[in-house]
Amino acid sequence: MHRILLIALLLAYGFSATAQNKTKNLVIVTLDGLRWQEVFRGADSVMVNTTEYNSDKEGITRRFVASSPQKRRELLMPFLWSSVVQKGQIYGSRDIGNRAEVSNPYKFSYPGYSELFTGFADPRVNSNDKVPNPNINVLEYINKQKGFEGKVIAFTSWDVFPSILNDKRSGIIVNSGLMDLKIDGISDRLKLLNELQHQSPGFVSEDMRLDAITYQFGKQYMIDFKPRVVYLGFDETDDMAHAGNYKFYLQQAYKTDAMLADLWNYIQSEPFYKDKTTLIITSDHGRGDLPPDGWRGHGEKVLGAEQVWFAVIGPDTPVKGEVKTSSTVYHKQWAQTFSELLGLDFKSGAGHQVGEAVNLK
Ligand SMILES: [Zn+2]
Repeated sequence: MHRILLIALLLAYGFSATAQNKTKNLVIVTLDGLRWQEVFRGADSVMVNTTEYNSDKEGITRRFVASSPQKRRELLMPFLWSSVVQKGQIYGSRDIGNRAEVSNPYKFSYPGYSELFTGFADPRVNSNDKVPNPNINVLEYINKQKGFEGKVIAFTSWDVFPSILNDKRSGIIVNSGLMDLKIDGISDRLKLLNELQHQSPGFVSEDMRLDAITYQFGKQYMIDFKPRVVYLGFDETDDMAHAGNYKFYLQQAYKTDAMLADLWNYIQSEPFYKDKTTLIITSDHGRGDLPPDGWRGHGEKVLGAEQVWFAVIGPDTPVKGEVKTSSTVYHKQWAQTFSELLGLDFKSGAGHQVGEAVNLK
């Protein structure tokens, strides 16, 4: 386009909405399989009182049970229900008519994460096997844009993410499971995490990394290298639900919320990130709702496992708190939303269909 014409257009229309965004960096966090029921209602008393799933009825009641859902959720996820609800937006509160869902029919992890990052539900993506994802994802797209090259990184507890995010093709570092981080200029703290992850317990399986270590990798990498887009994938909420351990499921939701508080505190205390970073928190699928046992599983045949939730806090998301509009947002919409927050247009480079961005304004 002719430069004078371009300037005239910019003057005529003002700068576009995306050009005015304050967001320069993006941090995306997922809590695998954490239900919206606990996010919005807190601990479920039926589950707390089912001895088979909770060996510490008294202790868990003291910590997480209160007279109203509002009080219970504040006990379970205090960061979400203080900072995020007061300064950001939380989607998926079905009790007041707002819905968040995956649109893929499979309702388990690989298809859920793939939908989240590629912006569509590809019927070919239908297993948790370590098959390289055929579709371009938004992290991969962002990593190719000017100013973002080599500034996009993922740390995850589950070792299937190198396939989901196709690290071989995408070229982004996807550090997953018990993979050692091998980079130039690695700090002593990151070296320690490389050692510690092999020495810490493998509760779920020998190759699953503890979420706390995944978190520390991510935070330390931010401190040391200042990446512009960070993805942290946590897993233990899902593992504890499958194991039928409601006590540890709740404890892990609480601990992850505390990591998010620490992360946001770091972001807002570091000039590189402060007031220039949007934090997005979600899950990859829901779970069943039939007490007391239905919550353990998820998948195609489990009623309600498509139901998820979403939280956003950052300089371009006006306060909406618990979103009350009667509408549904789908996981396939977020990839485009991530790119637009950074002033980019994933649709133009994806090479496949991509869901419309969520209107966060
Ligand atoms: Zn699962």
